[in-house]
Amino acid sequence: MMGKVIYLDNAATTKVYDEVVEAMLPYFTEYYGNPSAVYTFAGQANKAVTIAREQIAKVIGARTDEIYFTGGGSESDNWALKAVIEEYGEKKGKHIITTTVEHHAILHTCEYLESLGCEITYVNVDEEGMIRMDELKAAIRPDTVLISVMTANNEVGTIQPVEEIGALAHEHEIIFHTDAVQAFGHIPIDVEKMHIDLLSASGHKINGPKGIGMMYINKSVKIKSFIHGGAQERQRRAGTLNVPGIVGFGKAAEIALRDMEKRSKYEEELRNHLAERVMNEIKYAKFNGSKTSRLPNNANFSFQYVEGESMLILLDQRGICSSSGSACTSGSIDPSHVLTAMGVPEELAHGSIRLTLSELNTLEEIDYTVDELKKIIERLRSMSPLYQG
Ligand SMILES: *Cc1c(COP(=O)(O)O)cnc(C)c1O
Repeated sequence: MMGKVIYLDNAATTKVYDEVVEAMLPYFTEYYGNPSAVYTFAGQANKAVTIAREQIAKVIGARTDEIYFTGGGSESDNWALKAVIEEYGEKKGKHIITTTVEHHAILHTCEYLESLGCEITYVNVDEEGMIRMDELKAAIRPDTVLISVMTANNEVGTIQPVEEIGALAHEHEIIFHTDAVQAFGHIPIDVEKMHIDLLSASGHKINGPKGIGMMYINKSVKIKSFIHGGAQERQRRAGTLNVPGIVGFGKAAEIALRDMEKRSKYEEELRNHLAERVMNEIKYAKFNGSKTSRLPNNANFSFQYVEGESMLILLDQRGICSSSGSACTSGSIDPSHVLTAMGVPEELAHGSIRLTLSELNTLEEIDYTVDELKKIIERLRSMSPLYQG
């Protein structure tokens, strides 16, 4: 296996499909015109952007004029929260409800908004990472302006009851935003049925390029531009459009929607095989998250008497790419905020590993990974003063 990489970190980013690269290339070298220009030559680029918008809108059942391109998922999350407060804060109130398990793009934006005088309620989750609906209901106040709950969690893969949350929000005339970066193109989403007003998605989590994302903004929501400048994106997001990025994101979205069923079935089979082997063959292991309401490609384990970072390093020496949770917390010694929120004890949370699969993985890769993981954990435990065998 030397020299070969086994990539099991698809929640962090994904390989750009060859088909996607091929679709993008002409927009660097051939049709490089600025889509805002009036001459015919720029029309090619403009047309390509329109097609991409259609491809992306289709994934979530939106209208094309409700899709706004951004520089990625983090920008979309920032825009949603800050712009809702800016537009509706004075009129309706400055209370936001979110959860304890959101991505840092949401949590750190909330912290920033708190410093500006907003009030944030962080609703707890249960031991599977599922939002506590009773707490959510109890948190609603007359000045609640926004509910932001992620569609699926990036660390443990738990899928939230988005439709129920959206219905509750609308019952109280509260705007509903969902960070769907992990879910978009991976599981079915319907913005109308799920009562979603704002939705964030990103290209590089669906085998598209990095640095391109989008926000779906429902027609009824009046939020202003986040980036000021030119009149691009119907005056809501200035800056020359990243045409190759948009084309790639569009192509990736088209492929994701086309292959969703067979792809998730395959990933789920691999993931279940991985989880079964790990739980059967490794002692003192915990499978984190929900067994049923879960992204098909996510596995997250905690092992007692081992250190997560040591596992990652030893796996890396065998060419296996894994993560201890969210990429943003790697290198820090704090245990994952998601596992902590789910009530995983600190010493167990420290021994956690996230393996996120793709349809490019094989059964052989999964078996090799489990074989190596077994040896690594045995070795680490043999060195642990706490482990008695
Ligand atoms: C990756 C991710 C983001 C950030 O998206 P970028 O495009 O990398 O900025 C936000 N939320 C979730 C849930 C993610 O997984």
